[in-house]
Amino acid sequence: PYERMLKIREQNIAPSLRMYYKKPLLLHQGHMQWLFDYEGRRYLDLFAGIVTVSVGHCHPKVTLAAQKQLACLWHTTNIYMHPSIHEYAEKLTSLLPDPLKVVYLTNSGSEANDLAMFMARLYTRNFDVICLRGAYHGGSPYALGLTSIGSYKHGVANGIGCSTTMLPDVFRGPWGGSNCRDSPVQTVRKCSCSEGVCHANEQYIEQFKDTLNTSVPKTIAGFIAEPIQGINGAVQYPKGFLKEAYRLVRERGGVCIADEVQTGFGRTGSHFWGFQTHDVVPDIITLAKGIGNGFPMAAVVTTKEIANSLAQNLHFNTFGGNPMACVVGSAVLDAIEEDSLQKNSKDVGTYMLLELAKLRDKFEIVGDVRGKGLMIGIEMVTDKDSRHPLPAEEINQIWEDCKDMGVLIGRGGLYNQSCSCVSFAAISYPHFQQRQYKLLLD
Ligand code: PMP
Repeated sequence: PYERMLKIREQNIAPSLRMYYKKPLLLHQGHMQWLFDYEGRRYLDLFAGIVTVSVGHCHPKVTLAAQKQLACLWHTTNIYMHPSIHEYAEKLTSLLPDPLKVVYLTNSGSEANDLAMFMARLYTRNFDVICLRGAYHGGSPYALGLTSIGSYKHGVANGIGCSTTMLPDVFRGPWGGSNCRDSPVQTVRKCSCSEGVCHANEQYIEQFKDTLNTSVPKTIAGFIAEPIQGINGAVQYPKGFLKEAYRLVRERGGVCIADEVQTGFGRTGSHFWGFQTHDVVPDIITLAKGIGNGFPMAAVVTTKEIANSLAQNLHFNTFGGNPMACVVGSAVLDAIEEDSLQKNSKDVGTYMLLELAKLRDKFEIVGDVRGKGLMIGIEMVTDKDSRHPLPAEEINQIWEDCKDMGVLIGRGGLYNQSCSCVSFAAISYPHFQQRQYKLLLD
């Protein structure tokens, strides 16, 4: 069916949806860490449907839960009660610290971020929501306004109700030093920070303050940041940056929003939520992707106080919190716990980071290896001194070669120069662990 599908694609499918690879993949089936195309070729899926299929394609327990619910009841809306939404909200919030206890269920990460922004404004009665350079928060109008990666902007979405702090290109590269970003990987260049004092952090905080002082009003509605920037290529902030940024934002009356769309649900290994790696508690968190392992669902969790600011009027969406999504969401949480996936993410992620660092030391074009758990980015450069991004044709070739060798990885970065492998589907099976990663790295 390949030629027919390409033809339909050309005529009837939105051209803004770009496909990966010169010869796009036509996929047929998935099983845990594997994807299969129509010709029966098998791929190790390290990209996991853009960092989404966290517990594996068609995970048996999640699939069974979905099948049972499918045969029973699909949809009710929130105007009636169904146990699944209550059970899910209770289970999800039991994994979150106080005061993050009130759940809104939505359908995508963009919708969740739109809602978070809306809440920040209603609660504070201020207008501006700020974000960081390199952020990706979604494609809906509000969320696109908070997304600063240029290729997603069409020149019309800027300024739709938000201002964006454009911090300089601060968080790129191994150049900050290992102690600045809490990584098991030693950096190529020695960090100049002395024991306990991170100069990179001081510098970035100064820039942040400067932007707050010069580019945004005195009072703001909020600040949104990913605990690790995903689409920007697994970019980590220096240690302590987010904590100080939260303090400065709160000082100006704003609420702090953690976009956990990629970092949530144990992906960073050491903690269940990305914000915990920064020793902060946000006022609002947004969840999507791994929350449903590919089933369309998302959520916003906030405090009772903030939720009350939305209670004066109706707020509603038709599909959010439907029984299918809630049952799948619960089964995903069970699978992460029962299969010890957070621990796997930590163990295998650390192994991967250390092994990839050896490649970085060996090859001039591997500029940086960074990340946490199984959210890993590899930055490709022309050489380690100039740190120029590797030209697009060369990156394309690496990426095509990986696919031809049966490994699917993602791409990101401000210059599309980071390749990332970010799944933990690939580690869900006990027999698929270090041996297979070793083969892959070789
Ligand atoms: N936030 C982050 C951090 C994301 O990576 C994404 C999707 N790539 C979104 C929000 C938007 O999610 P969705 O595509 O489900 O709207």
